[in-house]
Formats: sequence, C-alpha cells, structure tokens
Amino acid sequence: MSFVIAQGCCNDASCISVCPVDCIRPRPGDPQFMSAEQLYIDPDACIDCAACMVECPVGAIYDEYDMPDHLEVFKEVNAEYFAENPLEISEPVKTTRRKLTKDGQPLRVAVIGSGPSGCYAVDQLSAVSGVEVSLFDRLPTPYGLARAGVAPDHQSTKNITKLFGKIIRRPNVTCYFNVEVGKHVSISELLDHHHAVVVAVGADSDRRLGIEGEDLPGSYPVRKFVAWYNGHPDHNSDEFDLSGERVIIVGNGNVALDAARMLVSDIDRLESSDMAEHALAALRHSGIREVVIVARRGVLDAAYTTSELMALGRMEGVDLVAIPEEVTAAKDDSRLDQAQVRRKHALAAASVTPKMRRRTVASFFGTD
Ligand SMILES: Cc1cc2nc3c(=O)[nH]c(=O)nc-3n(C[C@H](O)[C@H](O)[C@H](O)COP(=O)(O)OP(=O)(O)OC[C@H]3O[C@@H](n4cnc5c(N)ncnc54)[C@H](O)[C@@H]3O)c2cc1C
Repeated sequence: MSFVIAQGCCNDASCISVCPVDCIRPRPGDPQFMSAEQLYIDPDACIDCAACMVECPVGAIYDEYDMPDHLEVFKEVNAEYFAENPLEISEPVKTTRRKLTKDGQPLRVAVIGSGPSGCYAVDQLSAVSGVEVSLFDRLPTPYGLARAGVAPDHQSTKNITKLFGKIIRRPNVTCYFNVEVGKHVSISELLDHHHAVVVAVGADSDRRLGIEGEDLPGSYPVRKFVAWYNGHPDHNSDEFDLSGERVIIVGNGNVALDAARMLVSDIDRLESSDMAEHALAALRHSGIREVVIVARRGVLDAAYTTSELMALGRMEGVDLVAIPEEVTAAKDDSRLDQAQVRRKHALAAASVTPKMRRRTVASFFGTD
C-alpha cells in the first residue's frame, strides 16, 4: 500500500519534512521543484505511515485504497514521476532551533501582508525563541489571496488558512488589520519600533496586454472578476455584464480555468461554495453558454496544471473542447518524452469531442 498526492497539492512541502523515509519529491531546492505541477510520493518507497496525509494542509494526499474514483489516475501520475526521476535518498537536512537571546532583548520584526508569503515568514520568524512579530494587513481580514484569490469551490485549498490561523495566533505574534503601510504608517515609522521589516504585499496590479480595446466595456482584468466573486472588500460593488452567451478568456493558467469554471458551473454547485452572495445573484441570471480560452502558445506550453484541466473536464453538463488541428500540431514534439507533458497532450487530445450544452473551448493558438 502507498499514499498518493492528488489534485489540489499546493507544493508547500510540509509533507516532505514529516516523511520518515524521505520519499516525497521534488523537494525545495531540487532542480525539478520550480517546474513541477505538484509533489509526488514514490509508491515503492512509501511505508504507509500516513504522516504526510495528516500534515497536508489542503487534504490532497490519499491512501491508495481509499481514493475517490475520479482521482485514481493520480496513482499513475505519482509513479510516473519516479520512473523518470528515480528516488535518491540523501541524508536528511539537520535543523537546529535558533535562539536570539544574547542580551535578553527580543528581536522585533514587522511583516507587511498576511497572505501566504507573510504567513510563512511569520511562521519561520515566530518559531525562533526571542523573536516578536508584528503582522500588518491593509484589509480587515487575513490571508490575502488564499482568501480572495483561490476559487470558492476549492475549499480544500482554502484549508491552508487553518494552518495560517494557528501561526498568526502564536503568543509572540501581534496582528494589526485595517492598517495600510504607506498610508497609515510608513516603513521608517515601523523601523523606529522594529529591528527589521519584511515586505510581503503580493502583486496588487493587473498585467496589461497593451492592446487597443483593452478597456472597452465588457473587457475586464481577471483579478477584478476573481476579487468580485470572492467578496474582496475593494470589489464588492463591481459589476460584470453576464448577459451575453460567449466569454473569451485570454491566457490559460489555472486562474483562467478558475474563472471559466465559475462561469460555466451550475448555480447549485456554486451555492454550496463560499462564493460572495452578490456574485451568486448575478451568476443566477447569467446567459453564458460558452467560454473560449485563448493562449498564444501551443498545447504543450499550456500554463494550467493537468489536474485543474481534468477537474474542468469532469464537470457535469460541461464539455471541454480542444481544437483538433492544435492538438495534432503538437504530436511530434520532442518534449512528449516527458510524462508531465505527455499527460497534458493526452488530455487535450481526449477533449476533441462534439459539443453539448455549456462548453469550454481551449484554443491554444488563438485561431478559432
Ligand atoms: C485567482 C487566483 C487563484 C489562485 N488559486 C490558487 C490555488 O488554487 N492554489 C495555490 O496554491 N495558489 C493559488 N493562487 C496563487 C496564490 O493565491 C498566490 O500565489 C499567493 O496568495 C501569493 O501570496 P502573497 O502572500 O505573496 O500575496 P497575497 O496573497 O496577495 O497577499 C498580500 C497581502 O498583503 C496585503 N497588503 C498589500 N499591500 C499592503 C500594504 N500596503 N499594507 C498592508 N498590507 C498590504 C494584502 O491585503 C494581502 O493580504 C491563486 C491566485 C489567484 C490570483
């Protein structure tokens, strides 16, 4: 028996440090870490202790005999990774708890931003004896895009906030919400009271295309749309025209798939998520029947992770349709010898199907 990492893996690597046989890869620092879509467990080395499953903050690890049917494919996905990257066991990195108690004075650190980056920084800092942390966020609520970015139907991913909650409640951490650094307090004022300041404010602006028509009515940055359906206080009163039948999404990363899922989902499905009421009310009357996802490069370069495209393809009443010529164009690409790329291609090839009612079309070269 073995444990298996499936859809929803957030790559935060907390499973790696608890694995007693060091059989989870890639590790932070491994060359594959930055490009891996997720982490993987070696089925041959796993000793079924379940430590990783207990530790996983987003519930993405399963006992192989206890996997929901639709995730069975991840057994193969995990094994495939080790067929290409055989497990090499190295000595575990020894960590020693640091202490900063030289003159008995605490080291005071201000962290600006309570998103994942800020929370992980607070975690590391507040674990050191003798450190006091002040955490600032301009919003009334913590967790940044883990709250206001991650899709409302991805509750297991949002579970990461339970871990962050434990971190920011530590006795040596003080939180200040509704405080915008740069407006209510300056960095130099923070430095008057702290030894160091960590800036973890995320990316708060849109990536502009710089093309004519970008600002026409009906064209919106996805950041705004996502913030609106997630109830971000800056975007509660935004409005989106959902009366048309067809939406085009430019770019095919996981956020594009999130937005597509929200647009083609049955309203009953969304009602059981934590989507903002105003967005539910608007989507209830939506006329959208088709979402076309357009990307500048081919199917093998698609920015989404395979597991997220699979999830979109599994939605009831929704057809995932790829343009046949675009799938065929990639069939002789030398990168198909890599399992992760092969899977991406196979999934697109399997999506060359006739249309049904609501549908999502992935057009990789923007030719449709
Ligand atoms: C739509 C969307 C969906 C996503 N889905 C997933 C997913 O399913 N899984 C996944 O792993 N990742 C997902 N991500 C990515 C993930 O959310 C980000 O990588 C992560 O949130 C970045 O963390 P961060 O702390 O750097 O920034 P943020 O999460 O943006 O946090 C920054 C924080 O800083 C605060 N802040 C900004 N300026 C100031 C200031 N001047 N003073 C005080 N506070 C300030 C903000 O209010 C915010 O709370 C998604 C991202 C988006 C946009």
